[in-house]
Amino acid sequence: MYKENYNLAALNTFQVDCIASKYFKFDSDADIHSFLKNETVDISNMLILGGGSNILLVGDYPGIVFHPSNEEIELISGNSEFAIVRAGAGLEWDKFVETTVCRGWGGLENLTLIPGNVGASPVQNIGAYGTEVSEWIHKVNCYDVQAKEFITYTNKECDFTYRNSIFKRHKNLLILSVDFKLVQSSILSTLRKNFLSFAKQFINETPVAARLVFKSIRFGKQTNWRLKMNFEYVRQFLSLDMIPTQVKRLLVKAIRTKTMPNPKVIGNVGCFFKSPIVPVEVYNNIKKIDSSIGRYKHTGELLKVSVGDLIKSVNWNGRREGNVSVDVNRPLIILNHGGATGIEIFEFSEQIKNDVHSKFNIKIEPEAVILRSAV
Ligand SMILES: Cc1cc2nc3c(=O)[nH]c(=O)nc-3n(C[C@H](O)[C@H](O)[C@H](O)COP(=O)(O)OP(=O)(O)OC[C@H]3O[C@@H](n4cnc5c(N)ncnc54)[C@H](O)[C@@H]3O)c2cc1C
Repeated sequence: MYKENYNLAALNTFQVDCIASKYFKFDSDADIHSFLKNETVDISNMLILGGGSNILLVGDYPGIVFHPSNEEIELISGNSEFAIVRAGAGLEWDKFVETTVCRGWGGLENLTLIPGNVGASPVQNIGAYGTEVSEWIHKVNCYDVQAKEFITYTNKECDFTYRNSIFKRHKNLLILSVDFKLVQSSILSTLRKNFLSFAKQFINETPVAARLVFKSIRFGKQTNWRLKMNFEYVRQFLSLDMIPTQVKRLLVKAIRTKTMPNPKVIGNVGCFFKSPIVPVEVYNNIKKIDSSIGRYKHTGELLKVSVGDLIKSVNWNGRREGNVSVDVNRPLIILNHGGATGIEIFEFSEQIKNDVHSKFNIKIEPEAVILRSAV
């Protein structure tokens, strides 16, 4: 489907108006190839759009928007231990996770309820509760819109790191489908493989599970007194092998429904900012300024500083200006209460960034993609 002057308001979860000069929605690899081969399309200004749940559209877009809509799921190969499954870029991510859990293909259950489509999942290497999608990606099948040819990237070639990949840097790569290598995880198949080792694991892990559940829950006050999850322990609990994938999915669903604002109800893109990754000395300096700032282990000597704590420390949690606010309980989420423009949301986010920088001398970066083409 090709359109001109197309409003993307329904295609981004911040729900901001943005008129794209040109818009092309396609559902097969052949469609995009023939469109680009036959049309004289200017691709110097182009945007690939999935579910629009990780993008802030600032102003109108004077270029062309490509919107993949292929929703196919195909079992490419498999045996009693693993399955290689291909999913189309246009498939809603959570529908795919649901299918994998129902079919007994394990690996993606911790990534339950992340909004957006399959095609975007490798771009920022989506992650939650201790799992990153890169652990389960086998290959990424792309179309290079500049060279006008199909190209496949192996997991290694994708160069995955925390919320990053080659696809963030090479904007000419349009992801058409993703191949996942998942484990055959149904209890039956696990038991068939090796009953004894499963039983042993069950006996070993049960006390650990009980301890982690106990540690995961505490009573805390932010606005009102209520039960709060300690996500570090939730993560550890979800990584236990003895917990069936169906149970993990249910648990993640329950937690996310309670803690994340639903973009169908209120405009947002989830975590707007990334947690900065810093050497220990930098964290120690931050801690001298405000001892309540939390951190998590990253790789090697590096620490991930809680961006929510930084924002809270500069008194932005719950603050509202016009129709834009910071979520009171999760300060790394920016909300559009309705009617805010992309420019207003962008300027709001810049104020937060500046205040954190002034207090801690640290730059926080957006996790969301900011498209500022027309400003
Ligand atoms: C309530 C909420 C909770 C969230 N929770 C999490 C979370 O726990 N973990 C997490 O990692 N993220 C989370 N997110 C962010 C978001 O869901 C993910 O980043 C998701 O993968 C974005 O998918 P999308 O299809 O909406 O991408 P879009 O927003 O449409 O695009 C994002 C980027 O990917 C590019 N892109 C999209 N499709 C393709 C394609 N086919 N080929 C090449 N490039 C493409 C776009 O050009 C853009 O640069 C959350 C968002 C919301 C609203």
